[in-house]
Amino acid sequence: MTINNIPFNKPYMTGRELWYIAQAHTNGHLSGDGMFTKKCHEWLEAKTGAKKALLTHSCTAALEMAAILADIQPGDEVIMPSYTFVSTANAFVLRGGVPVFVDIRPDTLNIDETLIEAAITSRTKAIVPVHYAGVACEMDTIMDIALRHNLLVIEDAAQGIMSTYKGKPLGSIGHLGAYSFHETKNIISGEGGALLVNDERFVERAEMIREKGTNRGQFFRGQVDKYTWVDIGSSYLPGEVIAAFLWAQMEEAEQITSKRLAIWHQYHESFESLEASGMLRRPIIPEDCIQNAHMYYLLLDSLEKRTAFINDLKEKGINTVFHYVPLHSAPAGMKFGRANGDLSITSQLSERLVRLPLWVGLDTDIDRVIDAAQTGF
Ligand SMILES: *Cc1c(COP(=O)(O)O)cnc(C)c1O
Repeated sequence: MTINNIPFNKPYMTGRELWYIAQAHTNGHLSGDGMFTKKCHEWLEAKTGAKKALLTHSCTAALEMAAILADIQPGDEVIMPSYTFVSTANAFVLRGGVPVFVDIRPDTLNIDETLIEAAITSRTKAIVPVHYAGVACEMDTIMDIALRHNLLVIEDAAQGIMSTYKGKPLGSIGHLGAYSFHETKNIISGEGGALLVNDERFVERAEMIREKGTNRGQFFRGQVDKYTWVDIGSSYLPGEVIAAFLWAQMEEAEQITSKRLAIWHQYHESFESLEASGMLRRPIIPEDCIQNAHMYYLLLDSLEKRTAFINDLKEKGINTVFHYVPLHSAPAGMKFGRANGDLSITSQLSERLVRLPLWVGLDTDIDRVIDAAQTGF
């Protein structure tokens, strides 16, 4: 008998993506900033309260824009966790910035806010909190540190859409925030992202950087009489086909999130007794945080246990994954950044974490994953 494989991720589609793409096709506007892009911008602004939301090709692109807006100069330092995706650091390294890696909290695996101040030097320009698994960093403390030291806060909220911290949407709390719509995230367009500009000061420049360093936006609004090269920039805006796809997803963002949450909670309840017997640790969600069920992970006892667990589930046709190789220990991280402190929590937990499949539609197979996981030790 062949058992069907349960993939780690399976992109969910609402069914209206192709219909909206057909409409974009009929509209005949295929470059960026057409009707669907505007709908997505308005949705994001209404949802987050951002002064300006701008679709980009990816969260990576949004972070690159943020690094330009923060005016990162060669040698400027940017404080961030080491336990994150490469783009968090790369966006700043591209401008000559130096990532300064600090350790994470053992509960949420987010940047340990109590270690940030000790990493600040005269070269520090920004703090980049990453909301791991869509669970918020301790933003009140981080914003307070930034205010006292005159630093910018750029939220890597790639995983954080539809999550909140003390009622505030992730990505809307710092000066700038970045979302991802990559197909592995909750709300998707294949590749895609958005920059949230929460500080009015950056709105105009953000539009220009996204439009190849031109004042094209102002020109179309009739604010200037010719459109010309005014700043550095690149082409960061996606075409309408991507925005049309994304619009179908945004319309269903609430339903997608609640379906993911149901799966998340089913996992969470199922592993309660194994946690009680000391076999593993489940995710911890602080009281002030509403999360979006971006991820369900387990922390096992050791690298050996994790390897055995992943292999065992693989034999049962279930695909699980781990991440991240801590950036401070990666070749480029050692070359371009520096670690502040020993980062021992990062090193330990990155070897123990395993992510379980979590996608809309998993419902019918989730019992198989839970059964396999419960016997996978
Ligand atoms: C997915 C992710 C990114 C990159 O997003 P893209 O849209 O693929 O560029 C950046 N940071 C974090 C924390 C992510 O999870």
